[in-house]
Amino acid sequence: GGDHLSSFSATTAQQDPHHIEARPSLIAKARSADLIFCTGAELEVGWLPLLLRQSGNSRIQADQQGYFMAADQVEKIEVPVTIDRSMGDIHASGNPHIHLDPYRLLIIAEAFTQRLLALDPAHQQYYLESFEQFKQDWQRALEKWQRMASPLKGKKVVIQHSNLNYMLDWLDLQVVSNIEPKPGIPPSSRHLASLLTTLKNDKPDLIVVAAYQHDKGARWLAGRLDVPVVKLPYTVGGDDSVNSLSLLFERSIQLLLEGLNHGG
Ligand SMILES: [Zn+2]
Repeated sequence: GGDHLSSFSATTAQQDPHHIEARPSLIAKARSADLIFCTGAELEVGWLPLLLRQSGNSRIQADQQGYFMAADQVEKIEVPVTIDRSMGDIHASGNPHIHLDPYRLLIIAEAFTQRLLALDPAHQQYYLESFEQFKQDWQRALEKWQRMASPLKGKKVVIQHSNLNYMLDWLDLQVVSNIEPKPGIPPSSRHLASLLTTLKNDKPDLIVVAAYQHDKGARWLAGRLDVPVVKLPYTVGGDDSVNSLSLLFERSIQLLLEGLNHGG
């Protein structure tokens, strides 16, 4: 946002984004905010309604310009046909982890720019120029990343939650199993044992987890299959070297390539 915006993040890369606490310091920030920017698609359903209520801030309520949900701007993958919340399905509106698709990000950036123009028309030119610059840099980076990532095409990966699926889809990796039996439900030892039996006959190339996740089950499986575990940053700050959105993508591809070389 440069000189015209100041921001505060409700979460850190080490936290599970499904489970954030609406703590008093966060409520105080929400009280004075002109805009709230979330992923949406129910990722924040466990804490955002409370935060909005407690903030007493009319500018950021759901029907206002100051309420921006990124997932509302794009199509979601994995939208369930039927929802059984009793089974712990925390992705009832489809997969909310949209930020790892660089194409969707560009659509979101454009929509967000429009929202800023509406909220702060005095700095219209600044927001438009910033977006154009971002778009140019992003498109150049996209070509580079796709070249870099070409050895990953078609490789078989086991995931632990569908939090990385937009990136895996974009890079044409093939998800063959999920360590979580249902979104948000940790694996039982019986589930892990049955995965091991299945995967022994058709070994994956990699097991991928996000930096914020516990990787005990993944390590157990990896040790028995002799397959590398790749820990991806998931978001900015998820790895010491990742302090920007473009480094998030670059570093993730590097880590996947390193895992593949190590395993092969
Ligand atoms: Zn999730």
